[in-house]
Amino acid sequence: MTQKKEPQLMQDITSLSKRRGFVFLSSEIYGGLGSVWDYGPLGVEMKNNIKQAWWKRNVYQRYDMEGLDCSILMHSDVWKASGHVGNFADLMVDCKECKKRHRQDHLKENKCPDCGGALTEPREFNLMFKTQIGSMEDSSAEIFLRPETAQGIFVNFKNVLNTSRKKIPFGIAQIGKSFRNEVTAGNFVFRCREFEQMEIEFFCRGEEADKWYKYWVNERLQWYKDMGIDPLNLKIREHAKDELAHYASGCSDIEYNFPFGWSELEGIANRGDYDLKQHAEFSKQDLTYFDTKTNERFLPFVVEPSGGVDRAFLAFLVDAYRIEELENGPRTVLGLHKDIAPIKTAVLPLLKKNTEIVEIAKKLRDDLSYDRRTVYDDTAAIGKLYRRQDEIGTLYCVTVDVDSLTDRQVTVRERDSMLQERISIDRLKEYLREKFNS
Ligand code: ATP
Repeated sequence: MTQKKEPQLMQDITSLSKRRGFVFLSSEIYGGLGSVWDYGPLGVEMKNNIKQAWWKRNVYQRYDMEGLDCSILMHSDVWKASGHVGNFADLMVDCKECKKRHRQDHLKENKCPDCGGALTEPREFNLMFKTQIGSMEDSSAEIFLRPETAQGIFVNFKNVLNTSRKKIPFGIAQIGKSFRNEVTAGNFVFRCREFEQMEIEFFCRGEEADKWYKYWVNERLQWYKDMGIDPLNLKIREHAKDELAHYASGCSDIEYNFPFGWSELEGIANRGDYDLKQHAEFSKQDLTYFDTKTNERFLPFVVEPSGGVDRAFLAFLVDAYRIEELENGPRTVLGLHKDIAPIKTAVLPLLKKNTEIVEIAKKLRDDLSYDRRTVYDDTAAIGKLYRRQDEIGTLYCVTVDVDSLTDRQVTVRERDSMLQERISIDRLKEYLREKFNS
């Protein structure tokens, strides 16, 4: 645990990410764009795995959930109804000495946390990116890049209800990009200006909202644990009454012990019927739900678990990163959960000049690639090849050697234990399938 506290860890993770192709600074050849990031070949695999694991758990494995994929651009009235136009602003203060800008709600004292200098009066900073639709440059054509995916779910509540014929309690799940013109951006992908969210709006009866709120706090916490995050690095922070939005009756953050301190990974809020009420009023549409059992018509309450893909990505990386001292020197390992690791298997021919070995290895690579992401590497000695795969969290390395030509077996090495087993080539696919499905 102590390792997590070292600021050096953040530097190690950032440099590993860049060196091995997890994350690059956006538009890097032009000097980069502040707090906007690109996911490289390994990053995109890992990010897709996180989203897929979330989707599997929340959509495939439940019968009270539907999926949705809304557009990023929406009618500008959506943001008036949601309160984002007008309210979606952070109060910012500037240090008069070092000129650094800070979010007022992040400060413990009324002075600059960096240099102790005096601060300006707080000023509002609206976080939404504005743009224009069509070619008319007047205010009627002004629209916003969505700052959260949630509103797309609320405005489609009736569409999903009518087409899926779900009965409450049920939820709608969505993963997608959001944009916030964050002023105090930073800490790698923790706070970005363009990021992805994984959100659920869970609709239920008012009297059951508190029960579902508690359920979702536990369920979401459990998901991070099941995906391999050390429970000691996770905690729930319940918001005090004066922190809550006026319509919310409860809100809890799942926090992770990042190297820069405990910070929000995901928020779970009990939002009452506020959102549907607002959209019903602004759109003048009936968004009520009719309960055929009780013959009642009402606006459902909403419980919202809202997490960030990029923050989860960073937490998984930080949590999985370790350096082990072995007899022959240190080895860096990303001990990622099997569902999250970007590369599942690597096929490594021991002698790249031996055409028979190469032929078997390439055939194995082709076969295994049908099931999961597999790479082939013959560009170094075996010790180095193992280290390379350990550093990016590859679960199994399959080595083809001279003996393979006669005994038709290969060596399978497991990442964490480094244990090696000889497995028959004919049984390899099944062997790995069992490992990955367990
Ligand atoms: P913070 O207080 O850290 O700005 P928030 O409370 O504004 O976060 P929410 O509006 O609750 O965040 O958004 C839900 C989730 O979306 C967050 O828990 C986080 O995982 C993710 N998220 C929000 N803003 C960003 C951002 N700028 N970059 C990356 N992820 C973000």
